[in-house]
Amino acid sequence: PKLVYDFTEGNKDLKDLLGGKGANLAEMTNLGLPVPPGFTITSEACRAYMDDGSVPAEEIGTHLEKLEAAMGKKLGDPDDPLLVSVRSGAKFSMPGMMETVLNIGLNDRSVQGLVRQAGDERFAWDSYRRLIQMFGKTVMDIDGDLFEQAIDELKDGRTDLDLTAADFRSLVGTYKEIVRREKGRDFPEDPKEQMELAIKAVFDSWNAPRAILYRRQERIPSDLGTAVNVVAMVFGNLGMDSGTGVAFTRDPATGHQGVYGDYLQNAQGEDVVAGIRNTVPLQDLQEIDPHSYAELMEIMAKLEGHYRDLCDIEFTIERGKLWMLQTRVGKRTAGAAFCIATQLVEEGLIDLDEAVRRVTGDQLAQLMFPRFADDHGNTVLTRGMNASPGAAVGRAVFSSARAAELAAQGQDVILVRRETTPDDLAGMIAARGVLTSRGGKTSHAAVVARGMGKTCVCGAEEIEVDAKAGRFTVGDVVVEEGDVISIDGGTGCVYLGEVPVVASPVVEYFEGNPSGDELVRAVDTIMRHADGRRRLDVRANADTPDDAARARRFGASGIGLCRTEHMFLGDRRVLIEDLILAETAEERQAALDALEPLQKADFAGLFAAMNGLPVTIRLIDPPLHEFLPDIIDLSVKVATGKGTKKDRRLLEAVQRLHEQNPMLGLRGVRLGLVVPGLFAMQVRAIAEAAKAAEGARPEIMIPLVGAVQELESVREEARQILAEVGVEALIGTMIEVPRAALTAGQIAEAAEFFSFGTNDLTQMTWGFSRDDVESAFFGTYLDKGIFGVSPFESLDRDGVGRLMKVAVVEGRKARPGLKLGICGEHGGDPASVRFCHEIGLDYVSCSPFRVPVARLEAGRAAL
Ligand code: ADP
Ligand code: MG
Ligand code: MG
Repeated sequence: PKLVYDFTEGNKDLKDLLGGKGANLAEMTNLGLPVPPGFTITSEACRAYMDDGSVPAEEIGTHLEKLEAAMGKKLGDPDDPLLVSVRSGAKFSMPGMMETVLNIGLNDRSVQGLVRQAGDERFAWDSYRRLIQMFGKTVMDIDGDLFEQAIDELKDGRTDLDLTAADFRSLVGTYKEIVRREKGRDFPEDPKEQMELAIKAVFDSWNAPRAILYRRQERIPSDLGTAVNVVAMVFGNLGMDSGTGVAFTRDPATGHQGVYGDYLQNAQGEDVVAGIRNTVPLQDLQEIDPHSYAELMEIMAKLEGHYRDLCDIEFTIERGKLWMLQTRVGKRTAGAAFCIATQLVEEGLIDLDEAVRRVTGDQLAQLMFPRFADDHGNTVLTRGMNASPGAAVGRAVFSSARAAELAAQGQDVILVRRETTPDDLAGMIAARGVLTSRGGKTSHAAVVARGMGKTCVCGAEEIEVDAKAGRFTVGDVVVEEGDVISIDGGTGCVYLGEVPVVASPVVEYFEGNPSGDELVRAVDTIMRHADGRRRLDVRANADTPDDAARARRFGASGIGLCRTEHMFLGDRRVLIEDLILAETAEERQAALDALEPLQKADFAGLFAAMNGLPVTIRLIDPPLHEFLPDIIDLSVKVATGKGTKKDRRLLEAVQRLHEQNPMLGLRGVRLGLVVPGLFAMQVRAIAEAAKAAEGARPEIMIPLVGAVQELESVREEARQILAEVGVEALIGTMIEVPRAALTAGQIAEAAEFFSFGTNDLTQMTWGFSRDDVESAFFGTYLDKGIFGVSPFESLDRDGVGRLMKVAVVEGRKARPGLKLGICGEHGGDPASVRFCHEIGLDYVSCSPFRVPVARLEAGRAAL
């Protein structure tokens, strides 16, 4: 195969082969822009090199000769040397890889040739010392600080502009000594050897430890390899009529059109970003060199028109002549992504489909969180994991009850816990944010907070929480209950005191209070178009009328999951206790009779809030013992003789119901089959609430089914109750046990809909517990690249996804109109939404705050 491409032979679509830099240099060359000539050694050559150490020397030689012919100079020629840069450039730019070596071809003889040709001794020696410095650091692996120290000593307070030809010449001597001392060999003077070593160093840097780590984290395949670009040098360090700069075609922070960039006179390469001298705003180039400035503006407009997007560029001016050295579609903030996409539509450069493709659900999610004002100046107290974004300020509280109490008085609170449990739910709802000292991104606190759209920093390990004493400490700083703290869920930072917060205008917009600002208009335009395109419905997971109402405002077309267990907490706990303690059928019925009207009122509230949209209600799922008091508290009470008779019976019940593996135990449909009357009570409450609410569309969902027989027996009873009350409701099941997915054809005979419960399906498919594995080994798994993202955050397509596909195909075969949805955490994850679209689900269901994200991603998936 062809392993080396001249810039005239490539184009921007060959990134796989030529890397991003090479492909875009070729594109610019073919657009007729002033790019110094050069060639690209392909990533395929890199792969061959990694296999067997081979370098396509002959092809490189041929291309070098062509380059020499074009330039009318020979590489490193003593009289009139051609110099080149050797630049890495993979498909994805990657920190940790070798970057660039400039001025290759200089040595003790050719530097004299360069002096004569340029008529500038200082320039030639400056270029030579730069070569040794960059080559020494990146190719020979010498500590770069040694060179930096040497030049600092020489400068002795002067700036680089004050250094003379003699200074640079002596620096070359010093640098060569450093090389000799550190490596036991001389700096290679042979230009071809310099070039070859630099090329190999770029190839080798593909497997530098930092590059490997980065690829694992970003899920970049490890076998792509990198391309290498060899480019004829142009010189920005040839005096004050030369210089180097970087620019954006628009503001990457806002998307506004204008002139954005920095320029540095008499400088080379990375000097602009390295901060060796103060750069000037690009605007000033208009004065410095009006001709080059005008040409640059023209080129930037041309690039924008061509790439139809914001581009960033690197350029150099050599004695008044402009050269383009790099371009790419530029990175931008989330807000700018929306603004730029709609601006480009208005400018006629792209259509709305393309605008929707150019923004992501993750960007939208970022825009929905409040954030701290820029440059607030507060110092960081400690850091944890950025578990759920946003900015929260409030008084530290250490229990759920206290959080609820203070919040009821109108105070903002931050709930601080070692870790949270389902008991903390009320406190989490009441708090502005949650801070824990233990647990990672899939800990209870993190998952629940993300679901609620609540700011959360977790696993801030320096924090010692003393909940009993009502304080936490970080080193010798003590924070008492009531002290104000601020937490940043985007960065994981924790601050003492109040940091000013800015609300999200995008949330205000979804709430129905649009401000007129540009970002909100852009979001509106894009959301409307995405909604018009998407095939997936988006529903919400909501258990309360408030959540349901918000979900509707955010664009949900139904409730995909109402968890009824939340309706058994708080005051109602006693009623559940009575149910569990019931010894006779009468006692049991009495307990159920007490619960039924409460449940009915719960459902009535939801039906009212959803006003004719479908509401999927899942019958009680978790193991009963979760509703009983804590065993330790009870034991202590009973053992110290303080317990009542009920406490003693409760303790017995807790012991009786204790399970080694509750998540694999008596829960879901199993509970419904074992505790007579429990499901029946819920179904009756649903039916009666539905009957009373005009147009209600209940869907009754049975959790944890693994066999059609389980479903059949529950369904029989439910149908009878529905018939008695005289309402219609769909009856369906969760698919969350692998066996259910594998026998979906049978289960579909008895189910009118499936909803994939991918949280349980993931933990049962992998065989690890969501609540425990995070701290135990996920960190190691992520580091080792076993997965790039937790399968609880983003659907594991190959494993869990395969089970889903089987269930979709076999379910629909058995029952053609079968309705299919997903209600796990994944329903709001962008990549997972796309997958759900691909396998043909009818809807995704996610927390109310994720509804807009899912709408957008569903629209993008449909394009
Ligand atoms: P990075 O990937 O870090 O941006 P580059 O390969 O773009 O590295 O090189 C960094 C800088 O070196 C460029 O922005 C440019 O200023 C300078 N440079 C690279 N090649 C040349 C060249 N042939 N002539 C002049 N300057 C160059
Ligand atoms: Mg660059
Ligand atoms: Mg489940």
